[in-house]
Amino acid sequence: MERVISVNHVSFRYDGNEAVSDVSFSASAGDYIALVGHNGSGKTTLVKLILGILTPSSGNISLFGKNVRAFSSWDTVGYLPQNIGLFNPLFPATVREVVALGLISQKSTPKRFNRHDTKAVDEALEQMGIADLADKRVGELSGGQMQRVLLARAIVNKPKLLILDEPASAVDANARGEFFSYIGTLNKDQKTTIILITHDVAHSGGYANKLLFLDKTLVFYGNFGQFCTSQTMQHQFGAEIQHIICHQH
Ligand code: ADP
Repeated sequence: MERVISVNHVSFRYDGNEAVSDVSFSASAGDYIALVGHNGSGKTTLVKLILGILTPSSGNISLFGKNVRAFSSWDTVGYLPQNIGLFNPLFPATVREVVALGLISQKSTPKRFNRHDTKAVDEALEQMGIADLADKRVGELSGGQMQRVLLARAIVNKPKLLILDEPASAVDANARGEFFSYIGTLNKDQKTTIILITHDVAHSGGYANKLLFLDKTLVFYGNFGQFCTSQTMQHQFGAEIQHIICHQH
């Protein structure tokens, strides 16, 4: 199985405050990891380290076997940030243009779009059920629509690794269900590796195959069978909640 992510003894400090401490784990093609932990436990920082936005204070990270500092195939990585209020209502771009931005990283300069790009954008819009919004300005969209646009942008490259910050609560239950079902299909059919930052530990066993519990340091990483029998996780959640979580699978 192809090794997609390899995190080796990674620590990170913001101005002397350690946010991530000696974390090591790896993920293979087709893994679907629920990344959980309380607020401030370092989840976003860890994701930024994996995406090369931040550089580890110590340790190293590889993506697809290449050190992230030398990694250049960013077109194989999709990222959906949590903040969907990204665009000013007056931002003069259409849905189609924002989704096309997801193709920019694979272009050399000058960055021009061709017929294949248009097709890829059309497909992503279609897959997310937002083809009818293509020419709308992003400032006019609802939270749920915006979430789909940003997901379409994250998948337009057909990434092999997709990192998602939990869909905001602005998205209604229906849209949320569709979102998870779509991500699940990507994971199963295309073996896309998924990391999903989520607050919903209780349901994570319903879609993810692994759980990573972070509290600056890595408290637990394993599948839901291992989660069920982990003393550490029983300590964390109590036996009853642990049982509920692991039987979601
Ligand atoms: P989570 O995503 O789990 O809520 P974060 O990675 O956002 O956690 O934050 C981990 C810790 O790092 C927190 O204590 C937070 O206050 C701190 N932190 C996050 N971003 C910054 C920053 N830009 N500057 C200084 N401290 C930060």
